[in-house]
Amino acid sequence: MLALVKAEAGPGLTLTEVPIPAIGINDVLIKVRKTGICGTDLHIESWDPWAAKTIKPPLVVGHEFVGVVEAVGSNVSDFHPGELVSGEGHVVCGRCRHCLAGQRHLCANTVGLGVGRDGAFAEYVALPMTNVWHHRPGIDEDVAAVFDPFGNAVHTALSFPVLGEDVLVSGAGPIGLMATAIVKHAGARFIVVSEPNAFRRELAARMGATVTVDPRARDLGDVQAELGMVEGFDVALEMSGNAAALRTAIDNMAHGGNVAILGIPTGEIPLDVNRIVFDQITLRGIYGREMYEDWYKMSVLVQGGLDISPAITHRFPFREHEAAFDAARSGDSGKVIMDWSAA
Ligand code: NAD
Ligand code: ZN
Repeated sequence: MLALVKAEAGPGLTLTEVPIPAIGINDVLIKVRKTGICGTDLHIESWDPWAAKTIKPPLVVGHEFVGVVEAVGSNVSDFHPGELVSGEGHVVCGRCRHCLAGQRHLCANTVGLGVGRDGAFAEYVALPMTNVWHHRPGIDEDVAAVFDPFGNAVHTALSFPVLGEDVLVSGAGPIGLMATAIVKHAGARFIVVSEPNAFRRELAARMGATVTVDPRARDLGDVQAELGMVEGFDVALEMSGNAAALRTAIDNMAHGGNVAILGIPTGEIPLDVNRIVFDQITLRGIYGREMYEDWYKMSVLVQGGLDISPAITHRFPFREHEAAFDAARSGDSGKVIMDWSAA
């Protein structure tokens, strides 16, 4: 089969022939239809210090996908050829304290699809049946392809109550954009999206932002005054990984406010702990998706009318992977999809 492979240590990816993955008795083999490009894939492609430390070539990259069940192992009874599925990219151990308690997102032995095992930028991908998710009838395939980052957005956006609350979203990358639509759907009052990129601010407005702000040009205190807010934001979703964005969020919280942090910074961030203590602010780190409550929520939220599709802005055939990666890297994009269905 054809796959996009990190063939050796160093920049670049190669579209090349590799064997179709073998499956064990508990596994599902999936014929890939569409894939989404994640920031992780950009790090692996460019071979930054994180990738050089983490990735062991050769590796098929990619973890955001939708596809059709091709074959199943002899122990698998609830997946059948032809069914439309996506996969949870975090393969957990199943045996640690948290896995046994049903808290699989807390597993300390997680192996990432397209990071620690061969991934989904390929004609076929294999996963344990416990990682495969059936889609509901009628789902848009592009939306189904990005259930992985959509799940990050659901996990973060719904980790604190937002009904009637004022929410700050820092960073309108694909995940911040989806989170904006989710908190809107969930009944937030004001949603302020802070994002330096104009293309993404425009998308954020389409996803339901009350106000979009360029953090280089306008102070959040000024935005609060315009909206008639007096006590600060009740909830902040940190989705930029930017140090200044996190500090600004903390400075603009109401007493007792909740900050969910998904963005991954490149280094340590000094914080004003006095402010966190005296304003009684909760900071919560978010990693991955809750298995499988967030997957359930995604499926039913889409059925209930939540539309995240405006966050998907570019589509390429997989042979144009270089153009697809360029679009994802440019910043003037939301989610970028590669189509493998014609492979
Ligand atoms: P992205 O890099 O496309 O989006 C980040 C956005 O933040 C960009 O649009 C950027 O312009 C904006 N930004 C930069 N400086 C800013 C500032 N000072 N204020 C406000 N916005 C600013 O990333 P994404 O794919 O949407 O992911 C969002 C973040 O979540 C990234 O940091 C990513 O690494 C991280 N992530 C975490 C997990 C997890 O499980 N914790 C999973 C996926 C992604
Ligand atoms: Zn575990």
